[in-house]
Amino acid sequence: MPTTTRQWLLNGHPRGRGIAEDDFKLAETQLPDPGPGEMVLATRYLGFDPAQKGWMENIADYVAPMAIGDVMRGSGICEVVESNGGKFAVGDFVFGTTGWTEYLVTDGKELTKVETDLSPTAVLSVLGTTGLTAYCGLFKVGKPVAGDTVLVSGAAGATGSIVGQLAKIAGCRAVGIAGGAEKCEWLVKEAGYDAAIDYKAGNVKAQIKELCPPGVDVIYDNVGGAILNDMLACIATGARVVICGGISRYETGSLPAGPENYFNLVFRRGTMAGFIVLDWASEFPGIRKRLEGFVKDGSLKYQEDIQHGFENAPDTLQRLFTGKNRGKQMLKL
Ligand code: NAP
Repeated sequence: MPTTTRQWLLNGHPRGRGIAEDDFKLAETQLPDPGPGEMVLATRYLGFDPAQKGWMENIADYVAPMAIGDVMRGSGICEVVESNGGKFAVGDFVFGTTGWTEYLVTDGKELTKVETDLSPTAVLSVLGTTGLTAYCGLFKVGKPVAGDTVLVSGAAGATGSIVGQLAKIAGCRAVGIAGGAEKCEWLVKEAGYDAAIDYKAGNVKAQIKELCPPGVDVIYDNVGGAILNDMLACIATGARVVICGGISRYETGSLPAGPENYFNLVFRRGTMAGFIVLDWASEFPGIRKRLEGFVKDGSLKYQEDIQHGFENAPDTLQRLFTGKNRGKQMLKL
């Protein structure tokens, strides 16, 4: 059994700037023996989320602050390699917030056993926070009804691509906004979107108006900034605007001015609401079953982007901010 483990530690708070190489430090740390009820876990996969930057900055106040020297917080799938009367058996795969560490000793209280007929990595993608966020944000906040037009920013990402497909399952028309022709083609040909807008290729507002002439009933925003402003210019009466994320502002020094077009919410009697997916944690088991059912009956596809090597964890996180990822960003150890 290992007596030490490699870990990526937080070494800087990237506030008002992009993540830098020296915001992380690779360290070799002693691994304690598992006490009664504890287990040794070996990390097999890490999952990545743009929110990790907010955790590093300590601006995300729905999670505990991170201090310099802490093991970088993140989701993982681990295998139980030793147990001292622990909750799981040796050989079980478990997932949860396990952090950027090759091995860890834990009582496993906050961890869940991987139990799915899909590939084990699905617990970090379509059945993980990604799929749950898409489901809860769309259905619990966006409340789409059949026939609605649903417009999604960050549409080719892990979350956005699931939102569009769930909107289709609900009988809606799905229009996605993503960066680049290749992603837009993928949205329509593979991810089931009815139409796609390349935000890097010109006037987003004009393209939304052209594709959604009666206006947009549900906006699902992962991006914020100018794209949110353009989307707000195109809402239908009674629109629901779901604020899921704001990746365009995660690297800027100052916060953007409020969206100029917000007053359209008044003219169109719209509502705008943010959410944190964890608020529906008690419903996750049931929602996972529904998502798994959609995958099995062929109505929901998901994409995973799996990089390799523990030493590449910081670079893998960066892929989310440069749009290099194709689907849920993960790393195999
Ligand atoms: P993702 O969408 O798979 O990856 C991020 C994508 O954002 C990139 O591929 C890139 O796509 C796009 N992007 C990056 N910089 C951008 C910019 N400046 N302007 C416009 N687009 C940009 O990531 P994800 O894990 O599925 O997360 C999606 C969103 O959900 C994030 O904002 C995340 O914080 C949010 N989230 C919220 C909750 C919640 O509870 N509220 C929970 C989980 C995740 P392009 O190539 O198209 O630019």
